[in-house]
Amino acid sequence: MAPAVNTPTTSRHVAVIGAGAAGLVAARELRRKGHSVVVFERGNQIGGVWAYMPNVETDPLSIDPTRPIIHWSLYSSLRTIIPRECMGFTDFPFSTRPENMSRDPRRHPGHSEVLAYLKDFAREFKIEEMIRFETEVVRAGPVAENQKKWRVESKSSGGISDEIYDAVVVCNGHYTEPRHALIPGIESWPGKQIHSHNYRVRDQFKDQVVVVIGSSVSGVDISRDIANVTKEVHLSSRSTKPETYENVPGYDNLWLHSTIETVRQDGSVVFHNGKTVYADTIMHCTGYKYHFPFLDTKGEVTVEDNRVGPLYKHVFPPALSPGLSFVGLPWPVIPFPMFELQSKWVAMVLAGQVSLPTQDEMMEDTKMFYAKLEASNIPKRYTHLMAELDSQFVYDNWLADQCDYPRIEKWREQMFYIVFKRIQAQSNTYKDDWDDDHLITEAYEDFVRFTS
Ligand code: FAD
Repeated sequence: MAPAVNTPTTSRHVAVIGAGAAGLVAARELRRKGHSVVVFERGNQIGGVWAYMPNVETDPLSIDPTRPIIHWSLYSSLRTIIPRECMGFTDFPFSTRPENMSRDPRRHPGHSEVLAYLKDFAREFKIEEMIRFETEVVRAGPVAENQKKWRVESKSSGGISDEIYDAVVVCNGHYTEPRHALIPGIESWPGKQIHSHNYRVRDQFKDQVVVVIGSSVSGVDISRDIANVTKEVHLSSRSTKPETYENVPGYDNLWLHSTIETVRQDGSVVFHNGKTVYADTIMHCTGYKYHFPFLDTKGEVTVEDNRVGPLYKHVFPPALSPGLSFVGLPWPVIPFPMFELQSKWVAMVLAGQVSLPTQDEMMEDTKMFYAKLEASNIPKRYTHLMAELDSQFVYDNWLADQCDYPRIEKWREQMFYIVFKRIQAQSNTYKDDWDDDHLITEAYEDFVRFTS
C-alpha cells in the first residue's frame, strides 16, 4: 500500500540516544525535517563502535553485571568486511576523495578510516552542535500523565537531568552485551576465557593454544589474526558436520572443528569430531544481545530471546508509536544506508509527512511476521536477522518507498552479493583481491552527484 505523503505539519522535540553511525544520521534526518534534536552520547566522541579504544572490561567475559561497561568491540587489526563504496551513506560517499588519500585509501580500510569518515559526515552536517557528550541516558519512558510525551533522565558530570520530549529515537548499538556459548564442564576447566568484545591485540595469545568458538565473519577474522602469533588455533563451528576436522588453507596452525562436546579439569577440550586439544584460552566469538537498560516502557517493548518487540518493521512499537522508535536493529546488513532510510522514515512520520497504519494494523502486521518466522521454525532470536541475501534490500527499498526516496543503487546490491561470495571463496584474500572493478566505476560515476 502506498504511504500517505502529506505536507509538513509538525516540528517535534526529539531525544536521540547514541552518537554512533545510527544516531548521527538520525539526528541529521530529524533536523532536516524541522525537528529540534538533542543527541545523548555517553562517550566523549562520536562514532560508537568505530571509536577504537585499546582498553577492555575488567571481566574478560563481560558477565559481571557490576562491571564498568566499555562500549567498543573492535580489535586493532580490524579492516571493514564491506567495501567502502558500499558502506557509506547514500548521499555522502565513503569514497577515496583526493583530500583523503593520505589516510587509508584501501577498499576495505582499517577502523580508523571509518571513524574519520563519520567525523567528516558529522562536520559536514554540523551534527556535533546537537550532541551532549559524556551524558548517559539512564531512563527513558512515557510520561505517566501524558503518554504522548517522553521523560528522559540523563547523567553527566553536572548531575542528573530530567527532561520532557515528544519522541525518543533509540540508537544505542548492539555490539556491547555479549552472548556466550554453553560449554559442558566449563566450571572446572582451568584455562582462561574471553569474549571477542574484549579482544584488541593478538600478542596476548603469543605461543598459546587457543580455541575460538563461532565461525561468523569476526570468529574467522580473529582466528586468522591470532594464528600469526599463536602455537595453534582451533576454530569451533556449529554450522559444520559433526565429523569436521580440516586444516584452514594458508595456515599450518589453524584448524576448523565441529562443536565442543566437553571440556575437562585437565585443560582438555574435546570436540564432537573426536579430537582433543589442550588449550590455554577459549575465546567466545558468539555475538551480542540487544540491551536497553534505560528503557522503561512498562512491558510494551520487551527483549525475549533477543527479539525486540513487538516492533512494526523493526522500528516502531505499535502501542508507543510514533513517540518511540529504534534505528539499527536488523543484521547482518549494510548498516549505514539502512540507518539512513530508517531515520528518514522516522523523521517523516514524526513530521506528519508520512502516516503510519493504525495501531491495530501495525500489530496485526507484526503478528503475521512473527507467525511466518514460527511456521518456518526460525527461533525468536533471529527476528532481526536478514538471512536471505536480498532481504535487506527488499526492506531498504520498502523504507525508501515510504519516504519517496530513491531505492538502493543496483551497483551497491551487486557489490554486496559479490563480496559475500568472495568471503566464502577466498576468505583469506578477499579484502585485497577482487574482480568487480566495473561496479567501482559505476559507484564513482554515481558519487559525482554528491562530490562535485
Ligand atoms: P554504535 O556504533 O554501537 O553506537 C551506539 C552509541 O550509543 C555509542 O556511541 C554509545 O556510547 C552510545 N550509547 C549507548 N548507550 C547509551 C546511553 N544509555 N546513553 C547515551 N549514549 C549511549 N559495519 C559495516 O558497515 N562494515 C563493517 O565492516 C563492519 N564491521 C564490524 C565489525 C565488528 C567487530 C563489529 C562489532 C561491527 C561491525 N560493523 C560493520 C557494524 C557496526 O556496528 C555498524 O557499522 C555501526 O557502526 C553501528 O552503529 P550504531 O550507531 O548502531 O551503534
